[in-house]
Amino acid sequence: MSVTNWAGNVVFGARALHRPTTVSEVQELVARGGPLRVLGSGHSFNRMADTGGDLLTVADLPRLAEISADRASVRIDGGVRYGELAVLLEKEGLALHNLASLPHISVAGAVATATHGSGVRNGNLATAVSRIEFVDGTGEQVTLSRGDAGFEGAVVHLGALGVVTSLTLDVRPAFEVRQYVYDQLRRTEIDAHLDEILAGGYSVSLFTDWTSDDVNHVWLKRLETMSGDWFGARPADGPRHPVPGMPATNSTEQGGVPGPWHLRLPHFRMEFTPSAGQELQSEWHVARENGLEALHAVAEIRDRVAPVLQVSEIRTVAADELWLSPNYRRDTLAVHFTWIADTDAVLPVVDLVEAALAPLDPRPHWGKIFTTDPLALRSRYERFADFQALVRRYDPAGTFRNSWQEAILG
Ligand SMILES: Cc1cc2nc3c(=O)[nH]c(=O)nc-3n(C[C@H](O)[C@H](O)[C@H](O)COP(=O)(O)OP(=O)(O)OC[C@H]3O[C@@H](n4cnc5c(N)ncnc54)[C@H](O)[C@@H]3O)c2cc1C
Repeated sequence: MSVTNWAGNVVFGARALHRPTTVSEVQELVARGGPLRVLGSGHSFNRMADTGGDLLTVADLPRLAEISADRASVRIDGGVRYGELAVLLEKEGLALHNLASLPHISVAGAVATATHGSGVRNGNLATAVSRIEFVDGTGEQVTLSRGDAGFEGAVVHLGALGVVTSLTLDVRPAFEVRQYVYDQLRRTEIDAHLDEILAGGYSVSLFTDWTSDDVNHVWLKRLETMSGDWFGARPADGPRHPVPGMPATNSTEQGGVPGPWHLRLPHFRMEFTPSAGQELQSEWHVARENGLEALHAVAEIRDRVAPVLQVSEIRTVAADELWLSPNYRRDTLAVHFTWIADTDAVLPVVDLVEAALAPLDPRPHWGKIFTTDPLALRSRYERFADFQALVRRYDPAGTFRNSWQEAILG
């Protein structure tokens, strides 16, 4: 068997890939014992979904989109992707609060790693979860709802607790979004007005290739219209792609044209390859009040960063209560790097960025490439020991353990 992740930098070591079509089949597979690991849509860049045993995907479970009577939540299956779910919700006049840069990822896999979009008031995508249903390491079905003991630990689970077969997500009435792109935001403006800039829309992303102190583009996803220059940046004279040199046709519509939330909140269209395609990614989350310091720290080493970088994206995420969320009790500024697809060239620069940000206690994105010392990493999460206890409780025999998890969780 040769299955790789989306980026192709991880060839999974699994003996087989199982595709159960019912929850009972999932339970039977788990009851056989491990090592077993669940593969979502494979968009993570490290070995978190890898195993030397068997892989399992829940992509073939029957699609489920049960909307609650009060239209405040939807119960979905563990295999659906955001792009499919969004179309179902939009037909019902409903929406999610936010989306990541791409709609291609599975909801369960994204929630497992606290995947996020942007917006000073928007929590990461896992914060929409009000109930999680999973088959634990003993083959038992477990349901945890918001308010239950352990719920806040189980939502961002890194694949360590079991097979997520269903999630219930908060939804809201569908809304329209306008996407505006501005070119060339000067460093002096960022230094003077970072908070106002980041709060300038429902979701704001700054894109830079770090070849200069300035930001190449600002993407504003707004509920209101806007016009004219903005903090000295000029409105783009045509559609843009976040990655220099990539076709703008792959991007969601810009120019302030109003459109449904699911066709504006992601940067990339479902029907095209997202991002560059050939790439690696890393991202670190710091407290928002340290945001400017983080940007200055990266600017100091930009001559080392720029040669192995395609583009960097700066976003915000609101604080939450999920134990392993990088946004746990911390309003966040997230600095993301889309690297070139060359692990040997990129890893030394990942080390450099980690060192530059270390005084700010950065929490890396779980699904991307990081080299943080596991002890330092654990110390950045107050509830880490509680999460380890949750893993022992729901996976006592280590059915879902893999070497990535062993290194991180101990
Ligand atoms: C082009 C690109 C753009 C991206 N943009 C963003 C972005 O805007 N914001 C952001 O935060 N991240 C982003 N990411 C990262 C991505 O969102 C995360 O890596 C996410 O976890 C991918 O989901 P997945 O389903 O592919 O998970 P996988 O990589 O398949 O799995 C991730 C983890 O979840 C576990 N898992 C998956 N499904 C289940 C399940 N049903 N039950 C139990 N465990 C499960 C796996 O075992 C693994 O440990 C991007 C990635 C790519 C490739």
